[in-house]
Amino acid sequence: MSAELLKGSQLAKRVRSQIRRKLKKLTFTPGLAVVQVGDDPASTLYIKHKQRDCEKVHFHSEVHRLPADINQDTLIAHVEALNARTDIHGILVQMPLPAGIDKEAVIDRISPQKDADGLNPVNLGNLLINRESVTPCTPTGIIRLIERTGEQIEGKHAVCIGRSPLVGKSVGLMLLNRNATVTYCHSRTVDVTAEVQKADIIVAAVGRPAFVTADMVKPGAIVIDVGINHVNGRAVGDVKFEEVKEVAGFITPVPGGVGPMTRAMLLENTLKLAIGG
Ligand code: NAP
Repeated sequence: MSAELLKGSQLAKRVRSQIRRKLKKLTFTPGLAVVQVGDDPASTLYIKHKQRDCEKVHFHSEVHRLPADINQDTLIAHVEALNARTDIHGILVQMPLPAGIDKEAVIDRISPQKDADGLNPVNLGNLLINRESVTPCTPTGIIRLIERTGEQIEGKHAVCIGRSPLVGKSVGLMLLNRNATVTYCHSRTVDVTAEVQKADIIVAAVGRPAFVTADMVKPGAIVIDVGINHVNGRAVGDVKFEEVKEVAGFITPVPGGVGPMTRAMLLENTLKLAIGG
């Protein structure tokens, strides 16, 4: 293997220790509220992990489980009630929401000052104008992983495969804010391979297993695999790891790469919101 492995689980552990150290200087306990609508088993598992993370850094956490047939106004009223609580500093509404609920309408109503996911339009707008405040967890974790390589982002050509606000579009903006030259690929891109071949930094957020193959990767490139795809009961990424690791300079594993950093950044965002900056 020629690529250096970017271990998100190790870096996340370090982030949690830093948070615990910062917490010692606080006179109150940061609180995170997670809202789950319905009982999707994957969401239940993700939430359990988030609660465990909160315990590790001694945050207060609570889960609000609401029925799948809740109407949108009642859900929004619940979010508004959390906005008003002084002991809750971060609010996260677990996605996906049941059909019939407009997720944007719900995210709109999370106070930007309590938006632990960084997906409220005010926080995304700040990201757009390079006034980053609370930024989405997965892109923020990706930036940390890239910084961990010791390579400069400035001047690099980054290619993001995927353009969702949750991952692709936001990480592209964060890279642009750090003076990378950014290309976005998406389902209408004519020749994805040709675009990716030019990249010094590849962020694969497509949701298709083995989408990025070795022939697409410039030798020495930083390859960040965001994908989580379930194949034969196993979680696999968007990158054909076994062959790409022979070409790349750095590569994230799945699992143990971007996922743990996403969770660590949720804790960091909650702390940031708790201390008001
Ligand atoms: P998404 O909203 O479905 O976006 C997928 C993106 O891929 C879209 O922009 C889509 O283009 C693009 N795409 C689809 N087929 C393509 C193709 N053939 N060529 C080029 N682009 C193509 O997914 P997401 O929420 O961004 O998540 C992406 C992946 O990351 C998923 O596997 C998800 O599970 C994973 N994820 C992981 C974490 C983590 O913590 N590790 C966090 C979030 C997401 P269009 O816009 O044109 O449709």
